[in-house]
Amino acid sequence: MDTLDDLREQVCVLHGELLRWGLVAWTSGNVSARVPGEELMVIKPSGVSYDELTPDTMIVTDLHGAVVDGRHAPSSDTAAHAYVYRHRPDVGGVVHTHSPYATAWAAAGRPIPCAITAMGDEFGDDIPLGPFALIGDDSIGRGIVATLSGHRSPAVLMRGHGVFAVGADARAAVKAAVMCEDVARTVHLAHQLGGDVPRLDQDSIDRLHDRYQNVYGQPLDQPNRRDQPDRRDQPADRRDQPADRRTQPADRRTQPQDRRTPSADRRDRPDPTPPGVNA
Ligand SMILES: [Zn+2]
Repeated sequence: MDTLDDLREQVCVLHGELLRWGLVAWTSGNVSARVPGEELMVIKPSGVSYDELTPDTMIVTDLHGAVVDGRHAPSSDTAAHAYVYRHRPDVGGVVHTHSPYATAWAAAGRPIPCAITAMGDEFGDDIPLGPFALIGDDSIGRGIVATLSGHRSPAVLMRGHGVFAVGADARAAVKAAVMCEDVARTVHLAHQLGGDVPRLDQDSIDRLHDRYQNVYGQPLDQPNRRDQPDRRDQPADRRDQPADRRTQPADRRTQPQDRRTPSADRRDRPDPTPPGVNA
């Protein structure tokens, strides 16, 4: 089981990933992790610069957002994260960003159609649109949970606001947020080319999603870097962004832990897929 100190470090490091992948500006965006076996979560402090985030600035709250340990106020989105944990026991991590392409779809009030195989893989469907909701009560959390209920997608576009992504752990939720922005950008570019952007047929989406969720990746007893963001894979216009120096060594430290906590539906599955396919 992750200790609280491990989770503070993991959540801190994952905030560096939001910066590294260009998902956040100034102090926007936040990551949280459920504390396994406890009615607690670890979340970013409110309004603290990304440069000043350290593991010991992370806030521990209960699942109603009340601070249990921390020197700062928790993220202003804490109530939404807490609502998700209370109503989705399968969720171990929640991420919120205003990443620009995905938020453009949210501003336009449009779900992202499942038009490319990467979406079939990761989301298994369109990325759905949730309701408009103001911060301050459970409205955002209710909208996230209701929209994702019975839906394969781990990400939702909250209308006129931004992205909320969930995962079996915080790293999986961050990956979903990164992939959401990536496909939002690609499908947007496809629209710019003109004409319809056709949704993939449902049978192909089902097959892509099943394969990716169940057999894709490396056997768990081998080093596995498939979920590790690779700067070489980043779009050219993001390559020159300064990486947060502090996140680099810590990032590597999270890997053994990640292998202990794969998403449940991939656990113990051998993988016949050669490395590099769909990477
Ligand atoms: Zn927001």
